[in-house]
Amino acid sequence: MAYETKEAQAEMVWKLLEEVKDPEMPAISMVEMGMIHQVNVEEGIVSVDVLPTFVGCPALEMMKANITDKLASAAGVKEVRVKFVYTPAWTSDRISDEGRVKLRAFGIAAPPVDYKPGDPWEVKCPYCDSPYTHMENLFGPAACRSILYCRHCKNPFEALKPIC
Ligand SMILES: [Zn+2]
Repeated sequence: MAYETKEAQAEMVWKLLEEVKDPEMPAISMVEMGMIHQVNVEEGIVSVDVLPTFVGCPALEMMKANITDKLASAAGVKEVRVKFVYTPAWTSDRISDEGRVKLRAFGIAAPPVDYKPGDPWEVKCPYCDSPYTHMENLFGPAACRSILYCRHCKNPFEALKPIC
């Protein structure tokens, strides 16, 4: 086996997972989205616990296949087991700082940090940072994204809904 300890192998798995992109947002990895809950390696069997961002998101099966494909070819991996777990629940606060920067570069506004239920959802434009935005369509191309329009720079953009 190429890796001496299971800690080293788990580290290798995390590195590979950083290359697995969110199928609906190829700019950002599942690690940056905060979707990988834990990784365990035992005798060449890799178990990955994934926190789905939205229950029933149709991209889940694709995510599972992408993770399996990525890890199955790695040194010393005999089997890959991907499991979706719902505890702890995924919240938009789990998106990493780097992930937020990448989303923005992709023209998607990240959900506000420390959002509480009932708070007004204020979205800043990912292009010009103006808060002067208008919700065009709460349900955008995916259930988890909305379409907004910036009244300042006049660009339409998408925003990820805050989940807490
Ligand atoms: Zn703008």
